[in-house]
Amino acid sequence: LASKLPSVGTTIFTVMSKLATDVGAINLAQGFPGFNCDPVLVSLVEKYLRSNLNQYAPMAGVPVLRDAIARKTLACYGVGYDPDTEITITSGASEAIFDAVTAVVRPGDEVIVFEPAYDCYVPAIDLNGGVPVYVALSAPDYSIDWPTVADAITDRTRLMIVNTPHNPSGRVWTADDLTQLARLVRDRDIWIVSDEVYEHILFDQRIHHSLMTHPTLRERTFVVGSFGKTFHVTGWKIGYCLAPAAFTTEFRKVHQYLTFSTVTPIQYALADYLSQPDHYRALPDFYQRKRDLFLDSLRDSRFTFTPTEGSFFQTVSYAAITTEPDYDLAVRLTHEIGVASIPVSVFYHQRTDNKILRFCFAKEDADLLRAAERLCSL
Ligand code: PMP
Ligand code: GLN
Repeated sequence: LASKLPSVGTTIFTVMSKLATDVGAINLAQGFPGFNCDPVLVSLVEKYLRSNLNQYAPMAGVPVLRDAIARKTLACYGVGYDPDTEITITSGASEAIFDAVTAVVRPGDEVIVFEPAYDCYVPAIDLNGGVPVYVALSAPDYSIDWPTVADAITDRTRLMIVNTPHNPSGRVWTADDLTQLARLVRDRDIWIVSDEVYEHILFDQRIHHSLMTHPTLRERTFVVGSFGKTFHVTGWKIGYCLAPAAFTTEFRKVHQYLTFSTVTPIQYALADYLSQPDHYRALPDFYQRKRDLFLDSLRDSRFTFTPTEGSFFQTVSYAAITTEPDYDLAVRLTHEIGVASIPVSVFYHQRTDNKILRFCFAKEDADLLRAAERLCSL
């Protein structure tokens, strides 16, 4: 069979998690919490599993969950979305990103992607015949060089994919980034997918500047969220997309034939749980303590780093330790010291090896301390 994605292999997250399991390493590679979610949330799911709510949900998602997301969005960002025409529940942010890209991109359309980039964006562009146009985030802070973005825009640019807080670097967009982007896309038919799955995980008093908060961006953006990150339930695969009605109409055309709808009882449980904002409001402190615990324990190592601004990822440079390629080092450390990480070169279309590894600190404190102790031995 001739491959439609010839340059795609098995995703690094699967590769490194399998290796970590095979050799019994501490898995700081794949981004998922190493602890359970709130038992209250589990009880709610149990309640709805035992009730008569185990058949197909409405295609766009159960109304009470769409209403709850509308209320939460208004409370967090002061922006209104109509639950009937502008909010769609999906099987994870991954599905929402694929639906949005598919709804917009035609063969030959150019799509601007900031690198390093989370790995599901480019295959979605490729499968739709789009042409990824890469803009490198500037070293060492992964900021955006807006003149470079302006140069990358052509008459064929149809979409931009934005991710804040950013995976893998943790960088958080500033209000000025929103202004710069709005200036570039205003008066052009350029639409945006904004992947904001780490919206509630920010550090050092930073705030999340959702693209929806800028009027020019709100009217042209598919804002994508996920409950997996926010409620420690990555295995449930429930996400959502907020977009203007005309965009949502096209988005739902893809969604209804890709998955049609998303797991019903969990949607009801999340709707109930969302009425208590304490859970997501506590996340910055919860994760900042873990970030700081991990970084304090790495201070005596030869790794160098700047504390991450958001997400549950920390990138570190190992340039002072070895010149090995990052992929080889990540595999070697998994085998030799039992700590799995992600080599950041995999987030570039042409493996750009800046000698950086990504560690996920959404793990039990004991695992973070044991991993850091081993990393300090290098
Ligand atoms: N976007 C980013 C930046 C991610 O890190 C992830 C992975 N967790 C996703 C999207 C996919 O989220 P989901 O598991 O809800 O599909
Ligand atoms: N988003 C997670 C990460 O960056 C992985 C999700 C997945 O394995 N697809 O580690």
